[in-house]
Amino acid sequence: MRRTLIAGNWKMNGSFAANRSLLSEIVAGLPVSSDCDVLVCAPAPYLTQCAELLTASLVKWGAQDVSEHAQGAFTGEVAASMLVDCGCRYVIVGHSERRAYHAESNAVVARKTLRALSENLIPIVCVGETLEQRESGQTEDVVAAQLQAVLDVVDVAQITQLVVAYEPVWAIGTGKTATPQMAQDVHAFLRQQIALKDVAAAASVQILYGGSMKPENAKDLLAMVDIDGGLIGGAALKSADFLAIAAAA
Ligand code: PGA
Repeated sequence: MRRTLIAGNWKMNGSFAANRSLLSEIVAGLPVSSDCDVLVCAPAPYLTQCAELLTASLVKWGAQDVSEHAQGAFTGEVAASMLVDCGCRYVIVGHSERRAYHAESNAVVARKTLRALSENLIPIVCVGETLEQRESGQTEDVVAAQLQAVLDVVDVAQITQLVVAYEPVWAIGTGKTATPQMAQDVHAFLRQQIALKDVAAAASVQILYGGSMKPENAKDLLAMVDIDGGLIGGAALKSADFLAIAAAA
């Protein structure tokens, strides 16, 4: 049985004051024993604040990116070991905004994934097609190539340490959500791709959906058999919305 993971991606939002209210509302609003794991991925400067405010709670915290390098002369980069120092368990890799605005190739995403795994961080590997790619029938080719770059560099044991997030680029921050069936079809396809490498690992990998997930659509999306959680942007910045999505899980 795969556990459900509800992960907030704050992107480049927040302040010490705003985070303090948001996190205290989330902690106060979560049921004591929740059936799902709840995670917030905060900007790097706030990870120690997350550690301070969340250590005694059920809420986990993680980062939004990681360097492919271990340490050294890489100005501005943040190492996986530093994220571990800040108490992170998870890190998002290959978000479409990193791919689009920072030219992260499939190969870079694969190296970042390996770096995270080497520090025992759980990488949330994001894949997803643009609108143009969907309309020209390339969705499966695109997500297969994005996922395969990672599958090519990990061993079977490491696959079970991964989380995959399917985030159609056209659904991110646009208010347009994939229908539950559209998302399910891609999730099932991604799981099949993993199964080509290892059937048991494919059955255990959590595959999250991301792209305008909100309280109104979360239940239907999360009801699909291959959707194991959500990666939530906009709605993760409002405690009521984030808690409602976690409650739908
Ligand atoms: P959104 O973002 O929920 O605001 O669409 C999701 C994401 O980019 O992870």
